[in-house]
Amino acid sequence: MTLSLYDTMSRRKAPFAPKDPSRVTLYVCGPTVYNYAHIGNFRPVVVFDLLFRVLRRHYGADHVLYAANVTDVDDKINRKAAEEGVPIRTISDRYLDAYNADAAALGALRPTFQPRVTETMDAITGMIGDLIRNNGAYEAEGHVLFDTQAFADYGKLSGHPMDEMIAGARIDVAPYKRHPADFVLWKPSKPGEPAWPSPWGDGRPGWHIECTAMIHEALGLPIDIHGGGEDLKFPHHENELAQGVCSGHGGREYAGVWMHNGFLNMAQEKMSKSLGNVALAHDLLELYPGEAIRWALLLGHYRQPLEWTDTLIEQAKANLDRLYRVLDDSGRFLAGKVVPDGAQSPAGAAEHADILKALADDLNTPEAFAALFRLADKVRAAIMAKDALAVAGGRDLLLDAGNLMGFLAADPQGWFQSGADDDLKSRVEGLIAARADARAAKDWPQADRIRDELAALNVEVMDGPSGATWRIREQA
Ligand code: AMP
Ligand code: ZN
Repeated sequence: MTLSLYDTMSRRKAPFAPKDPSRVTLYVCGPTVYNYAHIGNFRPVVVFDLLFRVLRRHYGADHVLYAANVTDVDDKINRKAAEEGVPIRTISDRYLDAYNADAAALGALRPTFQPRVTETMDAITGMIGDLIRNNGAYEAEGHVLFDTQAFADYGKLSGHPMDEMIAGARIDVAPYKRHPADFVLWKPSKPGEPAWPSPWGDGRPGWHIECTAMIHEALGLPIDIHGGGEDLKFPHHENELAQGVCSGHGGREYAGVWMHNGFLNMAQEKMSKSLGNVALAHDLLELYPGEAIRWALLLGHYRQPLEWTDTLIEQAKANLDRLYRVLDDSGRFLAGKVVPDGAQSPAGAAEHADILKALADDLNTPEAFAALFRLADKVRAAIMAKDALAVAGGRDLLLDAGNLMGFLAADPQGWFQSGADDDLKSRVEGLIAARADARAAKDWPQADRIRDELAALNVEVMDGPSGATWRIREQA
C-alpha cells in the first residue's frame, strides 16, 4: 500500500518515497522544558506518534528512526532557575520528566532519540563553523549571524517574500546585522547566565541552529520527514532549512517532506501560554483516560484546526466506550470456547483494510475512526450470529487496528471501571459479594433487591462461569 503525505514545501499530497526504506528518518521539533506543557503542545506529539506507528507498520519497526529534540536552555528556563536558585538542569529535568510521563499517558511511543541542546553543543558549534567557512554566516560584535542573502531559496517553504520579511524585521533591527532578515546562530550570554565555550566567545546558540545540528547528529542530513506545528513554518523551519542547505551536509536537500499540524484552539484562539487559554495535559489526565484525550486530539484531520472543548473529550470517551464494549462482549462470548489459531474468515477484514488505507492517505484519522466503528459493528454482528471463528478473528483485527493507532491497550473491565471512584468500586464489590451470598442461600428476593441497588448505581452485572463481573452502564 502506498503511503501518501502532504508536503508543505510542494503544497501537495504525494506518494512518500524515503531515500532508504531500511532507514526511514523522522524529526519533530520538541518542547522547551520550563513548565508543564499544554494540550496544544501535545497535538504534534500525538499526530507524529501516529505517523511513527504507521511508518513502522509500512517499513518495519527497526527501520524507522524518530528524533524529537528538547530545548533545555532558553531565557524562560534561565529565569525559572534563577527564581528558584537552582541550576537550569534541575528545571529542565523536572519538566522533561513530566512531559515524557504525559506523552506516555497519551499513548505516544518514546522517540528513538531525544537529543538535548545542552548535550549537543559540539555539533552546534561545529555546524556554525561550517556555515562561516561556506560564507553562509558571519561574525559581528560577539554574535554569529546567518546571512540570509547567501541562500537564494530563503522564504520558499513558508511562502514569505523577502520584502515582507524585511518589513516585519525592521522594528528594532540589531545594528550589527548585514541584512534585517539575518538571524542569530550564536550569541554571548549575559553575566550570570549559563554559557558554553566557542571560537566566538562564551555564549549560547540561537534557537534555529539547535534543531539543524541535532538532526544532523542524530539522524544525518538530509532526512525524510520533518514535522512540527504550523507556527514553526516561519521563521523556525525556514531558518533550519537555510542553515542545513548552506552547511553543505545534505547537499541541496534538508527534508524530503515537511509536515505541519494545525492549531489546537480554545475559545476560537490558538491555545498558548501567552494568551492564557490553556488546559494542561497534566491536569486533563487526572480527569480523563489518556486514550480518550489522544482520541480527541485525533478526531479532526491533523492539518485542520481543532477546537478543544469538554464535549470533544466526552465524545472521544463515548467513542472508545463503544469499542471497549465490543471487546468486552466478544471476550465474554469467546470465554471457554476453543477457537483454532489462525482461523480464516475474520469479521471485518475489509474494514480493517479500510483503516490502513485511511491512515496511509496522509493520516486521515476521521476516515480511520469511521472504519474502526464499521469493524466493531461486524464483530458485534458475528457475536449475534454466534460465529466464534469470525468473532475471534474480528476481535484480533480490532485490537490490531487499535494498537496501530495507539488505542485499546486497557483491559475492557478496567476501562469501564476506571470511571468509578474508589468509594463506588468498594461499594459495588461489597454488593456483588452480598448478592453471591444471597444466591448461595437461595434468598432470591434479597439477590434481586441487590441487583436493583446496583442498577440504581448505573452498574451492570454480568454473571459468568468464573463469577460475576461488572461495568458502568452505557449512557443512553
Ligand atoms: P513550543 O514549546 O511552543 O515550541 O511548542 C512545541 C510544539 O507544539 C511545536 O511543534 C508547536 O508548533 C506546537 N504547538 C504549540 N502550540 C500549539 C497549538 N495551540 N496547537 C497545535 N500545536 C501547537
Ligand atoms: Zn526545530
